[in-house]
Amino acid sequence: MTEKQTYTLGKTSLSKLNGVHPNLVKVIKRAIELTSQDFSVNEGLRTLDRQKRLVAAGASRTLNSKHLKQADGYGHASDLIPWGDFDGNGTKEISWAWENFYPIAEAMRAAAKELNIRIRWGGCWETLNDTTKPTTQLVADYVALRRSVGKRAFIDGPHFELA
Ligand SMILES: [Zn+2]
Repeated sequence: MTEKQTYTLGKTSLSKLNGVHPNLVKVIKRAIELTSQDFSVNEGLRTLDRQKRLVAAGASRTLNSKHLKQADGYGHASDLIPWGDFDGNGTKEISWAWENFYPIAEAMRAAAKELNIRIRWGGCWETLNDTTKPTTQLVADYVALRRSVGKRAFIDGPHFELA
């Protein structure tokens, strides 16, 4: 029998949480202890210049991103990317495969509920605290709902923000 592997955030991940709201940081730091899928912090606080470039490139849809410094002086969003030896070749790398994002979202929900801090996930744009549906189902439901009204689904698996 093997014990559940536990993960920790690396220096680069921790540095990317600088300027991010302490409540979101708390949830991320608890989630890394709970998650079955290791992750790294890809981005936290973002400058308006960078946000403008992302919108122009179609990588973001709004200039009101929660990654920007909010009225309280903090960024309210962070992007988490799966990290691991996915090919089994002894090299760790990031993964953009959806299946690897779901366990991270589950861990973020568990941490958010435990800490009573409300977190919205970009995979479905729902507040995870309010639902017990599996995260796979949340994404499927969101996509189906958007399609039913003839709209494009903008799913952003790495993205978590304060709700
Ligand atoms: Zn984001």
